[in-house]
Amino acid sequence: MNKEMLLKVKKYLENEGIINITNEVTEMDLRKQGKVYSREEHLRGLIYSLMSAQTVWVNIERNKPNIDKIFYEYDFDKILDTEYEYFVQKLGEIRCRSRLTNAQMKALHENISTLKRIEKDFGSIDAFVTMEPTEKVVELLTSSSSKYKIKQMGEALAREYLRNVGVDSCKPDVHMKRLLGKERLGSSYNIDATNDEVIIVMKKLSEETGLWMAQIDYILWAYCATDMGEICTANPKCSCCVLKDKCNYCK
Ligand code: SF4
Repeated sequence: MNKEMLLKVKKYLENEGIINITNEVTEMDLRKQGKVYSREEHLRGLIYSLMSAQTVWVNIERNKPNIDKIFYEYDFDKILDTEYEYFVQKLGEIRCRSRLTNAQMKALHENISTLKRIEKDFGSIDAFVTMEPTEKVVELLTSSSSKYKIKQMGEALAREYLRNVGVDSCKPDVHMKRLLGKERLGSSYNIDATNDEVIIVMKKLSEETGLWMAQIDYILWAYCATDMGEICTANPKCSCCVLKDKCNYCK
């Protein structure tokens, strides 16, 4: 995967009206301009990231205002005063429930306690996510031996959470790993690229294009995802693909 290939995909998606990221002001831009994220914004970013797992994201995207209301605009105390079953039921009513929702909501109170511990130890959640390199923060949020481990959150979701609060990162999800794997664009010797391989490719493309890793991730994700580009899916539509002359799948 190189710069020219990425820009071809971006152009295709923008011409088709599927994405529009040229001139967008991202969360990373806002942080660079000095924005500090509140505890409520961190909880929102965390819940959005959890809800992105095993679901059709556009459904979550269009329901964000409803989700914000269900979670009391992310008021810690109001959420702590509410039984987890309420959130499961309300998310079901707006058809934003996945098979993970029950476990995610069950862990919500404990996760808020962890965020409070982070505030106590680091001064604020925002200080915590910016004081160490991203890799270290991801490890602290996901390692089972860490006292800051967020339940129901693995590496990909931790990176998504960080991106939601303006810390540049990418989410090595199933689409990205398959697209970059040896049977398709060949950035890996594995059928699915590993997390580290995806991150290396994103970093390189970010340096070459000046785009944030999160934007590159979004472009490639949108090329694959349901209700978005839907080009490089499990059953790829290679005849419509702008990368077919570079792809191992068509050789
Ligand atoms: S040619 Fe087919 S398999 Fe290769 S990137 Fe395009 S859609 Fe995916």
